[in-house]
Amino acid sequence: MQASTVYFCDLRTSVKENLPAKLERLMTTAGFDEVVPERGLVAIKLHFGERGNTAFVRPVLVRRIADRIKALGGRPFLTDSNTLYAGTRGNSVSHLETAIENGFAYSVTRVPLIIADGLRGASFTRVRIDRETIQTAYVGREIAEADALVSVAHFKGHELAGFGGALKNVGMGCASRKGKLAQHSDLSPKVKKKKCKACGACAAHCAQSAILQEGDEKARILAERCVGCGECILICPNGAIDVQWDADVPRFQKKMAEYTLAVLKGKEGRSFFLNFLTAISPACDCYGHADAPIVPDVGVLAGRDPVAVDQASADLVNGQPATEGSALTKGKGPGEDKFRALYPRVDWTVQLAHGEKIGLGTRRYELVRI
Ligand code: SF4
Ligand code: SF4
Repeated sequence: MQASTVYFCDLRTSVKENLPAKLERLMTTAGFDEVVPERGLVAIKLHFGERGNTAFVRPVLVRRIADRIKALGGRPFLTDSNTLYAGTRGNSVSHLETAIENGFAYSVTRVPLIIADGLRGASFTRVRIDRETIQTAYVGREIAEADALVSVAHFKGHELAGFGGALKNVGMGCASRKGKLAQHSDLSPKVKKKKCKACGACAAHCAQSAILQEGDEKARILAERCVGCGECILICPNGAIDVQWDADVPRFQKKMAEYTLAVLKGKEGRSFFLNFLTAISPACDCYGHADAPIVPDVGVLAGRDPVAVDQASADLVNGQPATEGSALTKGKGPGEDKFRALYPRVDWTVQLAHGEKIGLGTRRYELVRI
């Protein structure tokens, strides 16, 4: 397969060109205008950030993306699907409230918000792909019905995928609740009894009531109720909850790549990927906080190939020196693998290798700096 072109802009600006203008120049140079159908409904898929999180992509930059779509005759809307876990984005009502509180109000972005999978996450379109781990995918209906898709991903670390970029934003982020469940279903974690201090934090947090913990008894996970959302792993203050890394995580990443394929099915030539390498936190924006960035801000990447955009993003982040005082205590030098240092048992390359194998794109890229 031929190398894909990935376009990159750093964050230098001047009186002649501010960041929104530079972002627009990046997009147009990367062929953005070709993917927007006139009068087409264009889903801008992003993460609005959990309440309390501060690392998501800034609304004023998203406005510029929407403005470009409108200038081309398209009809953009901002979208995400509801989450599996307890939080402020588990149904469309609280999801929209959180998005607006985080700055994605119409008055800021001048574009409507539509949650992709209905009031309680039950609205989906079946997409048949017949791949290794997924036969039929359950994609949020409003995204499936859109004419084009623009992925706006905040690039950061992720405890199960190593990093979260375009594949995670599209594959997991566009899936309905049923689709998310299918991707997480092999990921039921385990409690390490020796480490558990019976504090009860995990049981109080689990939205599925899948953890039993009473009095001095150690926590216990009920496999029949657990949906594998992984939330309890980071909630436990004592590191007593862990997934079965070797068996489950590669399969999780393969499912995510195959879901990306399903979401993009029917949108060939009408999808575009922007990765923002800014405020690169160690964990997902699904948490109600954003830890200090692990490396300095890098810039924005754009392209038509999600695998190449993610590969280039990971390479650029790994090429940076670690930020002093961040969560990164190992792998701090330029060129060292920051994601492997954060999550030593997660091989983040699985999602990219599998994406390449199933024809989503290529890991080989040419980086064009604008
Ligand atoms: S036990 Fe953990 S992984 Fe399972 S549903 Fe509850 S919070 Fe999610
Ligand atoms: S949060 Fe951790 S320490 Fe507390 S009960 Fe759950 S597993 Fe045990």
